[in-house]
Amino acid sequence: MDHSSNLTTERPTFVTHLECSATGERYEADQLHGLSDAGKPLLVRYDLDGISGAIDKETLAARPPDMWRYREFLPVRSVEHIVSLGEVMTPLVSLPDTEARLGATSVIAKDESRLPTASFKARGLGMAVTMANELGVKRLAMPTNGNAGAALGAYGSRVGMEVYVFCPADTPEVNVREIALQGAQVWRVNGLINDCGKIVGAGKEEMGWFDFSTLKEPYRIEGKKTMGLELAEQLDWDLPDVIFYPTGGGTGIIGMWKAFNELEAMGWISHKPRMVAVQADGCAPIVKAYDDGADHAELWENASTVAAGIRVPAAIGDFLILEAVRDSGGFAIAISDDAIEQAQVTAAQRDGLLMSPEGAATLAGYEKALREGLVDKKDRVVLFNCGHGLKYPMPAADRALDHTQSIDFAALAAAASTDA
Ligand SMILES: *Cc1c(COP(=O)(O)O)cnc(C)c1O
Repeated sequence: MDHSSNLTTERPTFVTHLECSATGERYEADQLHGLSDAGKPLLVRYDLDGISGAIDKETLAARPPDMWRYREFLPVRSVEHIVSLGEVMTPLVSLPDTEARLGATSVIAKDESRLPTASFKARGLGMAVTMANELGVKRLAMPTNGNAGAALGAYGSRVGMEVYVFCPADTPEVNVREIALQGAQVWRVNGLINDCGKIVGAGKEEMGWFDFSTLKEPYRIEGKKTMGLELAEQLDWDLPDVIFYPTGGGTGIIGMWKAFNELEAMGWISHKPRMVAVQADGCAPIVKAYDDGADHAELWENASTVAAGIRVPAAIGDFLILEAVRDSGGFAIAISDDAIEQAQVTAAQRDGLLMSPEGAATLAGYEKALREGLVDKKDRVVLFNCGHGLKYPMPAADRALDHTQSIDFAALAAAASTDA
């Protein structure tokens, strides 16, 4: 196999137009777009029969294992515009101890931390920067809780774009430094991500920025869609019963649901999973809207959680998240930071998988859903570990030894056993 063929072979594309997610109004493809005239996200539409005619599952399976193998499902027209940093197909990691502990049939983590910049933001921003590259954008700006800014910094720098990033002052330190090291101009803002977003909105005319805020450009969803296509393919086109997804701006849950609907329309899958939006007790606008039976979420005041990536007090795609959750027969669930931290420790120490707090939130959400009877032990479950645990502050480990003194091994063993 030629391992670069996805990045060198020209393949047919099938975008027909873009569509307002709220009104259905049509917009032309191959032009720069932000939100629709109604102020809502735009969705990319394809000639699905055309895709069906151009590829089949066997052809796909023979391609190199990266997100660009799904080219016919993606918007980029010319292969030379693809901006790639070595995106991998992320592994499905089983959690056997978790299964045994909970009496569950199948619990799998899709470990998105293996992607460039160590989070699944690489999929969305890789695709969005690719399209910005194709459409001639040179200067862009975004608000971020960390990982999106890092991915934008990396992919933007790769093609010489000027990138401005605004993050809450208490964004994990590693993220802020990573963004700067990747060549973006980064500022810490004394507010939350929506306050950062207002700075982008206020400055875009004067600064000539293209606004890369979540869902304010149409292509990030298409990148995140590859998560759903990839999961389907990895499971031999037999999707799990339930997906637990840590939900912030919602690009991933919206993108996966879009993938599943496109695959279903093409006759490639016969059943779709229940989609579960997991949020933290300290920032749960989608859960509240779900519980209230509302179509839109209200701004969450004083948002706070250790899971920085899902600290999103207001999401412009709230109605699309709620639609995916409801149409799939899923639900929205909130868990405490204590439960998140406990789940992180359990997965790391018993299943060997170091999850980010957001990833751990999906495990905690699954356990809570089991307790509440919202899912069954027999359900095949996929959890999303969306970012790398090493990007977050970790519990201290400060035992020390003096090698010039004789070591008291009995004391060492005793300390180890109190830990276990
Ligand atoms: C961005 C992010 C999320 C939330 O993803 P959305 O698709 O925007 O809802 C969750 N976890 C991590 C680590 C993130 O970086």
